[in-house]
Amino acid sequence: MSQTQSHVFPRHCNASLPTAVGGDGCYLIDADGKRYFDGSGGAAVSCLGHSNARVRDAIKAQVDQLAFAHTGFFTSDPAEQLADLLIENAPGELDRVYFVSGGSEAVESAIKLARQYHVENGEPQRRHLIARRQSYHGNTIGALSAGGNAWRRQQFAPLLLDMSHIAPCYEYAEAAEGETPEAYGQRVANELEAEIQRLGEDSVIAFIAEPVVGATLGAVPSVPGYFKRVREICDRYGVLLILDEVMCGMGRTGHLFACDADDVAPDILCIAKGLGAGYQPIGAMLCSRAIYDTIAQGTGFFQHGHTYIGHPVAAAAGLAVVSELLERDLVPQVQARGAYLHSALTARFAQHAHIGDIRGRGLFRGLEFVADRQTKTPFDPALGLAGKLTKAAFAEGLICYPMPGTRDGRHGDHVLLAPPFIATETELDEMVDRLSRAVDTVMAGV
Ligand code: PMP
Repeated sequence: MSQTQSHVFPRHCNASLPTAVGGDGCYLIDADGKRYFDGSGGAAVSCLGHSNARVRDAIKAQVDQLAFAHTGFFTSDPAEQLADLLIENAPGELDRVYFVSGGSEAVESAIKLARQYHVENGEPQRRHLIARRQSYHGNTIGALSAGGNAWRRQQFAPLLLDMSHIAPCYEYAEAAEGETPEAYGQRVANELEAEIQRLGEDSVIAFIAEPVVGATLGAVPSVPGYFKRVREICDRYGVLLILDEVMCGMGRTGHLFACDADDVAPDILCIAKGLGAGYQPIGAMLCSRAIYDTIAQGTGFFQHGHTYIGHPVAAAAGLAVVSELLERDLVPQVQARGAYLHSALTARFAQHAHIGDIRGRGLFRGLEFVADRQTKTPFDPALGLAGKLTKAAFAEGLICYPMPGTRDGRHGDHVLLAPPFIATETELDEMVDRLSRAVDTVMAGV
């Protein structure tokens, strides 16, 4: 049933959307009873599917016990337990967890914490943030300023903060001919050092990057050695490393934290989406003991905060989600199912004339569409290929996450797949079948 009269402000103003009324495992169900396989978990959110009993029961129990207590006055058991669980499993020296309501808030908090840390550490001249082109870190002004996605930024540019953007690590599209992945990784990592030197060696607060780029490039991991070199550069110049795992964290790549695969630990780590798995809006920023101690021993107060930070019901949901991931050993299963999905995608699409790259880690996979595989030339952005693919997939009962190519014609359209971790091999096969039919439909008209 489509909505004819609505007062909800939708994402696409003129869209007529079906009404979602139910969720069953990996499927969403609309008011007409049509079932959609959630091949992207919304936007890499629904890692446990849509009907997890443990998470639902935890939410109900928490609402019955205590819905809200302001963190200016109280802490709560679920927030404390969730923080303990995250820290027990977190990389490096991460020691404190600051809960927020989503990804943009986690990134905003990280930027402000990085700045306050340097001020309290006696370096108030540090004011620059370095990020990467073709990145997305959220839609609030600070996070949008950090992001390097031209399309998302363009209308707001005069309001955005002045931040630097260096090259992403995007081997398929940007490595030079004959360059080894390792040499390419070092070359693009070294752009960070050059940018720090350009801005002034003691003037940068932090570098922010996604270990596996999600919403702008479609599941692009870095090449081996890239993040190790980034870490070295950050340490050399006293620059904090912020890793944005809002999309790729919480088991999505087959590691609880995506940076585990790169064997690198950040000073600040942002997570969201999979933390609440869609059952509650929750994100978090994890920071190192050194950062926390500097502030605790300085002003003693992080100059930040939102009304709903550390919300007990959201924390109870997050606690149930992370407990499910760990107790059911789902993260190693993501690796195994991710490998299965990658083989299925490769078997189906590796020879496709217009699919140039199939990539990703775990259950975080991307397909890049090109007009010409040899030259890697993208389709004309005016064709709106990603949008057409999403629409055709939706008609097939498949939800997948589209990303248009960049208007500079350097990067093609992508489709991102991030199915629930509970998807069976049969369901993954069915997802690939539906995607394949959608690709055929769209390509027939191109
Ligand atoms: N960072 C990354 C890497 C993201 O993918 C997103 C959302 N797609 C955000 C931040 C912003 O998260 P939210 O939409 O929850 O504000």
